[in-house]
Amino acid sequence: MTADKFEVLKKYFGYSSFRDGQEELVNALLAGRDVLGIMPTGAGKSLCYQIPAIIMNGITLVISPLISLMKDQVNALVQQGVSAAYLNRSLTEAQYRKALSNSANGKYKIIYVAPERLETSSFLWFALNADISLIAVDEAHCVSQWGQDFRPSYLNISSFISKLDRRPVIGAFTATATEEVKNDIIRLLKLNDPVKVTTGFDRPNLYFSVLRPQNKSAKLLELIKERKDKSGIVYCSTRKKVEEVCELLNNNGISATRYHAGLNDDERVKNQDDFVYDRKTVMVATNAFGMGIDKSDVRFVIHYNMPKNIESYYQEAGRAGRDGVDADCILLYAKADVSTCKYFIENIEDNAELSQEQKDFFKQREEERLKQMVFYCTTSDCLRGYMLKYFGDEYKGSCGKCSNCLTEFETADVTVEAQKILSCIIRTGQNYGVKMISDVLRGVSSDRITRAGLDRQSTFGIMKDVRATEIRYIIEKLEEQDYIISIGAGKPVLHVTEMSYPVLRGNAGVKIRKAKQLKSKALKTEVYDVDRELFDALKIVRMNFAKKKGVPAFVIFSDATLADMCRIMPTTEAEFLSVSGVGANKLEKYGEAFLNVIREWSV
Ligand code: ADP
Ligand code: MG
Repeated sequence: MTADKFEVLKKYFGYSSFRDGQEELVNALLAGRDVLGIMPTGAGKSLCYQIPAIIMNGITLVISPLISLMKDQVNALVQQGVSAAYLNRSLTEAQYRKALSNSANGKYKIIYVAPERLETSSFLWFALNADISLIAVDEAHCVSQWGQDFRPSYLNISSFISKLDRRPVIGAFTATATEEVKNDIIRLLKLNDPVKVTTGFDRPNLYFSVLRPQNKSAKLLELIKERKDKSGIVYCSTRKKVEEVCELLNNNGISATRYHAGLNDDERVKNQDDFVYDRKTVMVATNAFGMGIDKSDVRFVIHYNMPKNIESYYQEAGRAGRDGVDADCILLYAKADVSTCKYFIENIEDNAELSQEQKDFFKQREEERLKQMVFYCTTSDCLRGYMLKYFGDEYKGSCGKCSNCLTEFETADVTVEAQKILSCIIRTGQNYGVKMISDVLRGVSSDRITRAGLDRQSTFGIMKDVRATEIRYIIEKLEEQDYIISIGAGKPVLHVTEMSYPVLRGNAGVKIRKAKQLKSKALKTEVYDVDRELFDALKIVRMNFAKKKGVPAFVIFSDATLADMCRIMPTTEAEFLSVSGVGANKLEKYGEAFLNVIREWSV
């Protein structure tokens, strides 16, 4: 008799209900249909193929791009009582041969394999003699050149499949939903009339906020100190920034490590492990860090610099809170980030395979995306709504969980200020950037200003009593509303546009939205509305098991599961089994130890 999907869900994974999209995908695979599952990070794609894998006769191959990802997933499966293994180049030759012969002997139900391995003769020998019923392609967007993470070895997948005597069912999974990528996946993996499931992109447990600090370093320290001992990622736009920020954190007593493409392989692996195994709490990284980080208890993702588009932002920020517990996604915005991004776009790697026309098209597309990203940083509308609409989801109203929804805005008439700023830009010959214009308006006597004779301009000092931040803010808003444009990538200079003249002549007014104050509490998630001391005590038990088994803590139990224990306070095995994330196998392995702590607590 075959096991029922709900039984498997509870017994191995410890959950009593499916999340959005999961059941449909499981059903389709069990019915022998190919599938394409598009769900955001943290939505629970793995379960969609792991459950059919456990139920179906025969073996499931999971094709996955990254070694670390395979290792964590296999660890997690083994902890849940599923026989699984991985085949990749992290194994020695002898280990690999052993694993392969175990596979051939039917020892594993689920085998993770790197795409490069598929067409090696030893693997083919195994595959041709094995009973493979399902092939799951994880991170399936890697097959597409349109995606961010194109991996040429993914192109071998379909030729590998065509060599098998019997075509297994194929499931492809990704978080990337653009049309080009979707079509590439179906075409290049030769999916056969797949059942397509796309779930909404909302991640309700994430808080989004954009801050514009005067001093980013100080703000960052403050934010991290508020989140003491919580695991988090800080993304920076360049390697150099990563080095600086990591040093800043370490000098301030924060346990941080770093990751970027300039480090050698060994150090990257070590730093990543330090973070995943909670030996370091904060990871400072470029966008090279991320795919394959299944660490489920990342409580915050802070962007020290604005990324180049919303796709990247949502993907990176989405690495927070995969366990479904509240987490923060904070972006520290500064105008200078825009110039950095423009610079990157201007200097897009000279790719010899691209024609000039393609390059121009590419640049134009990237510029358009950058604009949308800047809008995200400067809008006063609901941030979640803005992003979801960008991805084509319906979204109405305001979420109440982003910095804009939590801020009260007022509309201010800044016509007079705008006239002063615009005329200063014109009088100084449209030759200067924000800082100079602001200095002239405030009447700062610097060398540069006197040398250029700007202190003799009629606009010199006409905004003496206004703070520099205020002037800067109004200039930004004028730019957003197209009264001003910045020209040039490196050190852009301000020009006025056609729209400015009516304002200067007094025929039009300018209004901007200004933050008045934060509504209710400041944006800061208090993650667990549970007994903090019990939670910490359980964390220690979890850490001890993790160390003993050599696996990351969240592989033993997620934060969400510990929080649920605090809520339910189980004292019997049956009650323990009712905790979300506790299955039969984990009950047997860990139940006693956790129950003991909870029992002591309840007396
Ligand atoms: P994805 O691959 O889509 O980013 P994962 O498969 O890694 O997401 O799952 C993210 C987290 O959600 C994991 O901690 C997983 O255990 C949890 N999860 C998955 N399905 C469920 C469910 N039905 N109920 C509760 N938690 C779930
Ligand atoms: Mg995944």
